[in-house]
Amino acid sequence: VQSTLEGISQIDPEVQAFVTVNTAAALKQAEAVDQAGIATDQPLAGVPVAIKDNIVTKGLKTTASSKMLANFVPIYDATVVEKLTAAGAINVGKTNLDEFAMGSSTENSAIQVTKNAWDHTKVPGGSSGGSAASVASGQVVVALGTDTGGSIRQPAAFNGVVGFKPTYGRVSRWGLIAFGSSLDAIGTLTRRVRDSVPVMNTIIGHDDKDSTTVDRSAEDLGAKIGQDLTGMKIALPKEYLGDGVDAAIVAQVQAAAKQFEAMGATVEEVSLPHTKYAVPAYYIIASSEASSNLQRFDGIRYGFRAQDVKTLDDVYVRSRSEGFGAEVKRRIMLGTFSLSAGFYDAYFKKAGQVRTLITRDFEQVFENYDLIIGPTTPTPAFKIGDKVTDPLTMYMNDILTIPVNLAGLPAMSVPAGFVDGMPVGLQLIAKHFDEATLYQAGAAFE
Ligand code: GLN
Repeated sequence: VQSTLEGISQIDPEVQAFVTVNTAAALKQAEAVDQAGIATDQPLAGVPVAIKDNIVTKGLKTTASSKMLANFVPIYDATVVEKLTAAGAINVGKTNLDEFAMGSSTENSAIQVTKNAWDHTKVPGGSSGGSAASVASGQVVVALGTDTGGSIRQPAAFNGVVGFKPTYGRVSRWGLIAFGSSLDAIGTLTRRVRDSVPVMNTIIGHDDKDSTTVDRSAEDLGAKIGQDLTGMKIALPKEYLGDGVDAAIVAQVQAAAKQFEAMGATVEEVSLPHTKYAVPAYYIIASSEASSNLQRFDGIRYGFRAQDVKTLDDVYVRSRSEGFGAEVKRRIMLGTFSLSAGFYDAYFKKAGQVRTLITRDFEQVFENYDLIIGPTTPTPAFKIGDKVTDPLTMYMNDILTIPVNLAGLPAMSVPAGFVDGMPVGLQLIAKHFDEATLYQAGAAFE
């Protein structure tokens, strides 16, 4: 823990992955582990972990990288944090993100600009850009991230690390500052596939505080690592290799397909015909849920309050106008519009129907295949500043990751090589609750 903290103090002034470093408490916790010795029920004893700053930590500032929560100190731990602590892990700090996890480059952070670990002029991806950069720059071996539309897998791909998003409902969202509640999932960013397993095994499970968590007996998600891939049936959707995806990335994915075939799997082309509707449906659903979830930031209960306000309306309007950044406001406006009486049927309801079609596309493929592979992103990491003023281009960056969240599936991004000197990711997608196959294939590939 001490050497991790030293590493952070040397590397992070340039990378700026951490919003808060938990120096004193982490050292104290580590000392306690030293004194008590490693208990057998503590699989992560003494392991330094970084935590995305939209996951609440008792007594430690949790900002969601928003001015709204710049001084917010939670009075409780998220369930995932509680579980990590019980397993002996040490929280070394909180990582930067796009404000409230809305974005794909971490440039929407109200706090700082995180750099891509491979090229400091490029974005780390987002919204878990701080978590990805903290792992890729060698500061920690594991960081928690959150994935609503790709926010673990996309920054993992951009930084050449492994990003793991579990099935929706696998991990408790209690204490995760809500963005899109029907989409949000907590997962890991790690150097290696295997490093993710003990952390995921620790944080999964039913939680009385999150009614969407599923009651399944304790499972070892890594149980199939090392098993032969002979006979595994892999699908490659043609829509994931289409327009807008860099030719060099398509070539990397085709090379990956060959690699899987050499290991005994079969790879066949399939179709997910509704893929092109995923981004518009997602932005209606995610923004609608966000507009509802963000009502709690009213300048009264907690968080930022505007100065010199005269009326109650002023408290609401000015606190929200000054506390939220441009992208968050854009989502709130889009969401409240989609949910409004006059437009609900045309937008929110329609998007829900499209979501069902996208889910059925996956179900049909999974009737005949064990796994889907494709690129994680259409391009490698782009320059800081290049897309931040062009939200639509930014939104399209997530075209390959968003369908997975709409369907609630587990998925992973593993490093697949380099394009123009920047890392790119291979995305693996499995059936609901079949994380074991993801780890099996991911560990065989890396
Ligand atoms: N980039 C997507 C968005 O801005 C996804 C973000 C996420 O997964 N949290 O909504």
